[in-house]
Amino acid sequence: MNFSSRLLEDAVAEFAKLPGVGQKTALRLVLHLLNQDKSDVEKFSATISKLRNEIQFCRVCLNLSDHPVCEICSSPKRDHTLICVVEDTRDVMAIENTNQYNGVYHVLGGLISPMDGIGPSDLEVDSLLDRLKENDVKEIIFALSATMEGDTTIFYLDKRLKSFNITISTIARGIAFGGELEYVDEITLGRSIATRVPYTNSVSR
Ligand SMILES: [Zn+2]
Repeated sequence: MNFSSRLLEDAVAEFAKLPGVGQKTALRLVLHLLNQDKSDVEKFSATISKLRNEIQFCRVCLNLSDHPVCEICSSPKRDHTLICVVEDTRDVMAIENTNQYNGVYHVLGGLISPMDGIGPSDLEVDSLLDRLKENDVKEIIFALSATMEGDTTIFYLDKRLKSFNITISTIARGIAFGGELEYVDEITLGRSIATRVPYTNSVSR
């Protein structure tokens, strides 16, 4: 693409770094911004900058939060004996949207994937085990995608959890056609949490 302006070219290059945004879309977005009031564009960039600088990980569940402890973890209305283990913050949002779950979460920050070089130490596993040691937790629900990585992660965590006297269950799996929880409709996801099943694997615990 030949640009008449270096400033334009630089802005397009930044937008084109976003996932799913090609050069043409990037150019369209940048030209759109140029049609906005300067104050609106300043607000846009300030919001992104503030997000990046100020967002935190909840020190209990590792979900994204405005505060050191997120609203879910600090709510007395939630059942803190029930922890739903998810891959990332999108899964928390998807499950919260069902309005069917009243427990708390633990965000792993990924799934075990030897192909991608992601092992247990790259995930929030120790922080989960610490929570179980320090708190009265009765049940862990795995809400991980029905992929090989999801299966591997559940299998690994189940082994690590066997020394705790905790019920371990999984949401009905195979519900998601693409695998990712965020794409499942709310009714199906809500039902799959309500009808969760005890986790058993082929290898005895
Ligand atoms: Zn939290």
